[in-house]
Amino acid sequence: VERCIIVGAGHGGSQAAVSLRQEGYSGEIVLVSDEKDLPYHRPPLSKSYLKTPDAEGLVLRTEAVYRDNAVELELGICAERIDTSGKRLVLAGGRELEFSDLVLATGARARMPGLPGMDLDGVVTLRTMEDARRIRAAMPRVENVVIVGGGFIGMEMAHSCIGLGKSVTLIEAAPRVLARSVAPVVSAHVEQRSRSVGIDLITGAQLAAIHGENGRVAAVSTADGRRFDADMVVMGIGAVPNVELAADAGLEIANGIVVDPNLRSSAANIHAIGDCVSFDHHQLGTRVRLESVQNATDHARHVALALTGRARPYAEVAWFWSDQGDMKLQTAGLSAGADNCIGSGDPEANAFSVYHFSGQRLVAVDSINRPADHMIARRLLAAGISPTAADIAEGPQRLKQMAS
Ligand code: FAD
Repeated sequence: VERCIIVGAGHGGSQAAVSLRQEGYSGEIVLVSDEKDLPYHRPPLSKSYLKTPDAEGLVLRTEAVYRDNAVELELGICAERIDTSGKRLVLAGGRELEFSDLVLATGARARMPGLPGMDLDGVVTLRTMEDARRIRAAMPRVENVVIVGGGFIGMEMAHSCIGLGKSVTLIEAAPRVLARSVAPVVSAHVEQRSRSVGIDLITGAQLAAIHGENGRVAAVSTADGRRFDADMVVMGIGAVPNVELAADAGLEIANGIVVDPNLRSSAANIHAIGDCVSFDHHQLGTRVRLESVQNATDHARHVALALTGRARPYAEVAWFWSDQGDMKLQTAGLSAGADNCIGSGDPEANAFSVYHFSGQRLVAVDSINRPADHMIARRLLAAGISPTAADIAEGPQRLKQMAS
């Protein structure tokens, strides 16, 4: 049988199915998802969805696209086991599907801290459309929202909830928000602007307990003894990769399914893509697991090439965006390991970029409301071109010139 089964129909899985066909894959394509919804855009769930719920507008592709590409959709069913030697995938309920190739695109799930009170009504996480529907349905009864975690999802949710007229407290354990992803000056800007719209933003504080009344959340307290009323607590403390299916089948795991530069796992005929994958990054020279739409969709296109006989090492520029109130934040490249940076633009005007360097080499650019800088940065990074401080000081025209 020539059949590629893709497990997980998020950004990666859906793209892989369509790309496979576009690249000329002639076998059957089956896309298995444990979610009931037609594959959809995840990023709006923490951004526009709470304010203007338009579930239909969120679909990645209409049903017709899958039909026209002869992609068989198996929605609302969990893949439970991989029989690697028999090349079979076992679905919930016992149905078995034979495959010639398997692509694991199982993504990640929200991390849950082991704290008492996590099971109280009103304590939520946000990963799926179903989560977002639940949060939206509860909103009319909510006045005080506490958000735990100042990563991208936490910050976006804080701004979305403020936009809905809620009273919002955000608790971050690290000394600054978005610490893993952006320059300190960007974190400081985001913090200042978030506070100015009324978010009670608390850094360097550890969540200690969640308190309930009659089964519902009522407050949270921090390790330093502060207490905050809460009708809803959003846990935004990161994601853990869904690797259990792969691990049970004996595939190598290291904070994600380990893949080679062609996204092949340690098992024959099994590739893995997106949030669930740990791969050697061409720029960093270390293993990373990235969580972004860009990474998932570029991995997907790449695996489609590999499965149609045109494998080449994965080496795309990482990029990401996040919308928080009146800030459109974009990053290009990865700033981990950078040792100096240069600013450009005007934080006062809420429009600036930060260029990260490792020695003389440009490795990443964070931008706030500077989409043109972001696009140029992606081209510079892709071409391996590093501007000097003088080039940056000269302005976007100079950088654009260098990138073209
Ligand atoms: P996912 O999209 O997570 O899809 C994996 C799918 O596999 C899921 O549907 C899961 O249920 C399913 N699955 C898992 N195990 C099984 C199984 N055994 N059987 C069947 N199905 C299974 N990224 C950005 O770049 N920009 C943003 O602004 C941004 N905002 C975000 C906002 C939110 C609220 C969230 C949650 C994420 C956001 N992200 C953003 C991250 C981005 O959505 C992810 O990086 C992307 O979805 C990863 O795609 P994926 O296909 O690897 O995994």
